[in-house]
Amino acid sequence: MAIVSEFAFELELCAHLESAGRPGAAGTDVVARQLGGAVAKPGGRILDIVCVEPGPAFADRLALTSETIPDAAIESDVGPGTARYWKAAFPDDCHPERARSAVERALEIDFFEGERRNGRRYVRQVARYPDWFGRLVGIENKPDLGTPGDLEAQLRTDASLGLVDEAILATESYVTRAHLNRIPEEIGVWRVSRGDADDVADGRPLEIDVIREPIPLAVDEPGVEPLEYHPGHTEVAIVPPERKARTRRRIAERAFGKGWRTFRFPDCEACEAGSPADEERSDGPEPGTATPLPFCRWKGRIVDAESECGPACPGYEPAAEPEVDLEEERDRRTPWRRDPSGRRRRQSGLDRFG
Ligand code: SF4
Repeated sequence: MAIVSEFAFELELCAHLESAGRPGAAGTDVVARQLGGAVAKPGGRILDIVCVEPGPAFADRLALTSETIPDAAIESDVGPGTARYWKAAFPDDCHPERARSAVERALEIDFFEGERRNGRRYVRQVARYPDWFGRLVGIENKPDLGTPGDLEAQLRTDASLGLVDEAILATESYVTRAHLNRIPEEIGVWRVSRGDADDVADGRPLEIDVIREPIPLAVDEPGVEPLEYHPGHTEVAIVPPERKARTRRRIAERAFGKGWRTFRFPDCEACEAGSPADEERSDGPEPGTATPLPFCRWKGRIVDAESECGPACPGYEPAAEPEVDLEEERDRRTPWRRDPSGRRRRQSGLDRFG
């Protein structure tokens, strides 16, 4: 079987997880891709896919704002009751510019509302920040285990840091005992396939075979984050549970605001906003339709417009980008709303930027 590109694999897996859910799970996760998964060295680990399980107050989060709420705004002493002078609501160790931009953004996305008193801006939360997310599941995509790159080190980081509740390796390769022995025992393994299809581009619905169940990671205990690898030793940081909890909330917020449709369609005649596969997938909320993905007829697969498309491609024929509103797609297919009617919008007479 041909191995698809990591990009195509990731988009198709995200589409499947959104519509059908993880094996054995409810299918209500917030699905996102390419999120930072480190604490001490931000950017040191990027999680390919993150599934966020909704928590008890998910409906309140949906109603609040469609965007990512800045961490500094959540952490601040701005509450939903009495409005406070914004500068007094941030701790001394929060840089004034970070505080100012968090306030601006929180006002812009309707998490804060503001008023002006004696020339000073006072702010309060539109609604208390809800307890909206449950477990986080990180998925590392490696369609071809024959070219593993940094896979083992990445999975060892996930296991020792314990930032997500479960970590999973997703692959199209046949998984041998030797493969399983090389990765930490906590990491779950999925084999992703399209049934008996010889040609992955024919787009049969994905099937996930659980080769190994993940072992829950110790998110409430200190984690060990590798920072630098040197011959004979590795520099590490010990990350306390409070810092992990804060980063977990940042990941959940980022996942909520960003989702997984962070791609564009090529401005090329060969691009279809879908594949023959899409018509066959019927597990979405609207039977017979599947979410549009950037399928290239010329290459016979999903393509990454940013890195693969343009005049340098021999199949390129300039054309208008397919008209697909990716936010509208997310709105239609998931509980997320691009424009929730928050309480803030029903109020009037407040000086937002006062
Ligand atoms: S530019 Fe090339 S890869 Fe991209 S859609 Fe056109 S033919 Fe396909």
